Amino acid sequence: MLHLKNCVTKVRFISTMTIQQAKTVWKKADAVCFDVDSTVIMDEGIDELAAFCGKGKEVSQWTVRAMGGGILFRTALRERLKIIDVSNDQLESFIEQNPLRLTSGIRELVKTLHDRGTAVYLVSGGFKRIIQRAAKELDICNENIFANTLLFDNEGRFAGFDENEPTSDSGGKTRVVELLKARYGYKNLVMIGDGATDLETYPTADMFIGFGGNVVREKVRMQAPWFVTDFKELLQELQPSHAVNGTEVHMNGLNGRERLLNGLNESEVPISSVNGTETHINGTRY
Ligand SMILES: [Mg+2]
Repeated sequence: MLHLKNCVTKVRFISTMTIQQAKTVWKKADAVCFDVDSTVIMDEGIDELAAFCGKGKEVSQWTVRAMGGGILFRTALRERLKIIDVSNDQLESFIEQNPLRLTSGIRELVKTLHDRGTAVYLVSGGFKRIIQRAAKELDICNENIFANTLLFDNEGRFAGFDENEPTSDSGGKTRVVELLKARYGYKNLVMIGDGATDLETYPTADMFIGFGGNVVREKVRMQAPWFVTDFKELLQELQPSHAVNGTEVHMNGLNGRERLLNGLNESEVPISSVNGTETHINGTRY
């Protein structure tokens, strides 16, 4: 009986939404939450910070352990920050000396969403002070950033992180999505990200788009209702399409029949669950 119950719970989290249904939700999105590391920006903030502080190898070893499972997100965050032991001054230098690498197309996408009145949020397990640079570039206000806060003592020494931030714990991004939906009543909230913690926000989020423009995580690619490797794909869907002789013409140049001939009959794409390897596009290991 217990076994059956577990099976039912698991099935609930495997999407049965077709890509076409996902696109319909995307077109009427009233809020979009972007993950930051390897989504809005090309890098992983904590790895970059660790390398800057000369602790890159030790931290990446911990990251590999954490990804093996069985370790709480907060524990992994605490242990890695203990190794990095960044001071306030070091953090300032890191921010000054490491130019931001925004992912191609994100600027245009966020501007288009803002112009059409869609609320845009950054939801990250990374650090607010690092993320604020990206937010500024994208004209996203501080109130729309949900991320972790590093703490320092009076001498500027590392003193932990704010454990009250929902993003500092396992399932934190899902809690942020719940909070936003409860606070603002969003009906079509879309989460976009590259990682497993982004995927798990769905189905609390009304739709999830997997992003593989910087790194492809196989589980996300297979389980996301819609998976893209270029923000242009999302931008195109927001452009008006028009009908010619009864045939819908899409901005990407493929109509329904052409998609069928190309094996892209979206409504029939099966969504299944597999565990697999990750493909790293920019050559960085995560
Ligand atoms: Mg990410």
